[in-house]
Amino acid sequence: MQAEQRGYEVVVVGGGVVGMSVALELDAAGTDVLLVDRDRLGGASTSRNAGGVRHQFYQDANILAALETSARLRQLVAEDGPVDYRQVGYLLLYTDDAQRDRLAEGVVRQNALGVDTRMIAPDEIAEIAPDVDLDGVLGACFGPTDGYLDPILLAAALRNRVLRSGVRVLEGTAVHRIESDGDRATGVVTAVGTIPAGTVVNCAGAWAPTLARSYGGDLPIVPRRSQVFVMADVPPLSPTMPHTFDCGSRFYVRPHQRDVWSGAAFKPILDEAPPTPGMAAEWVEAEELARRVGRRVPALAGRPFTRAWAGVIEVTPDDNPVLGWTHLANVYSAAGFSGHGICIGMGLAPSIGAEIRGGEPAIPLDIFRPQRFSDGSPAKLEGLWLQARPSRYEQWLASGPAAPQAGVTR
Ligand SMILES: Cc1cc2nc3c(=O)[nH]c(=O)nc-3n(C[C@H](O)[C@H](O)[C@H](O)COP(=O)(O)OP(=O)(O)OC[C@H]3O[C@@H](n4cnc5c(N)ncnc54)[C@H](O)[C@@H]3O)c2cc1C
Repeated sequence: MQAEQRGYEVVVVGGGVVGMSVALELDAAGTDVLLVDRDRLGGASTSRNAGGVRHQFYQDANILAALETSARLRQLVAEDGPVDYRQVGYLLLYTDDAQRDRLAEGVVRQNALGVDTRMIAPDEIAEIAPDVDLDGVLGACFGPTDGYLDPILLAAALRNRVLRSGVRVLEGTAVHRIESDGDRATGVVTAVGTIPAGTVVNCAGAWAPTLARSYGGDLPIVPRRSQVFVMADVPPLSPTMPHTFDCGSRFYVRPHQRDVWSGAAFKPILDEAPPTPGMAAEWVEAEELARRVGRRVPALAGRPFTRAWAGVIEVTPDDNPVLGWTHLANVYSAAGFSGHGICIGMGLAPSIGAEIRGGEPAIPLDIFRPQRFSDGSPAKLEGLWLQARPSRYEQWLASGPAAPQAGVTR
């Protein structure tokens, strides 16, 4: 039977890491589920990110989700193909006391839940990451089980898993709107017809607010442009080189096979999520970013970035996703993962799936409820950058050391 000729218990809109993982959970529990994507599964932010996978979060639900994600990643690798998952650690370098205090606060929570992060002094940083110049560094937070993966391989492995499962899939089919009658959704309207649905799950990432608006809803998710810059074919770095964040100058650098990948915390706010999964990269920060990378990792000094891509991160006011029943009685939203959907999306999926089926989530989802922004709850900020992400280049520029003279990299 053609997918569009019948109705489904659940229609999941959006087949990124979140939608694919939720659809798999529902299918495994016996739900009749259709996964619809206007593109290829995994073609948007899920394959256009930096691939960082960490347990270093500040709130228990996120730490538990990250633990579940890493267990599921190991299982995915065993069953659905390599994703180049390397647990070489996350090294968060701090350059002032405020950064240290925030990192140390996270370590207490992480350790309490069994994550082996620790604060380390410069001499231990030098052992773990001999390529890193310690100028201005007071210490670091190190998470040995954190690491990175190849996002394109992850998208492919998850898609393989979905195609092997009982989930029905419609790719290349945009959902134009969610149709409703009173306080209930009745189905989704697509180019191949209206598909009746008992429940609709909005996993449309940065585009989730657009889908919500189609039935009169609203989601507090803002699209920001985020970019990854590549230095190709660099001299070999130490095999233990972790995914390294400079919290003072607000950038990261990490090896990727024979290249290194890097990005700045600078993430411009867009008026609207673009109609395509990605965008052309803008190179405004490239030169200064290369300088900061070269200053922190001298083996890379003087090297330019030769390639870059851009995607959209879907950011909420507190950097936590929106999870729960939204606006209509049978529409569930799971979006707004705010730049850490790879870290926690797969790990939260079993709890989201359980809740959609009327069961109890294994991870408490209270901090993710959309009502937190309107019921006076105190803000509980997540986020790795310790301060808000700058949306203007000048703000990011001001976070680093004074720019050196032309041609001088250190
Ligand atoms: C440059 C960059 C770097 C990042 N780095 C990291 C990182 O290091 N670690 C990390 O954890 N996270 C990172 N992220 C964030 C991470 O990629 C996202 O949080 C995650 O991919 C969100 O997954 P998702 O499934 O919610 O959204 P997406 O992967 O964007 O999936 C949404 C899907 O919905 C589909 N869709 C949208 N509208 C419709 C519609 N109307 N009808 C049908 N389908 C629709 C889209 O085609 C898309 O496939 C980064 C993101 C970017 C852009």
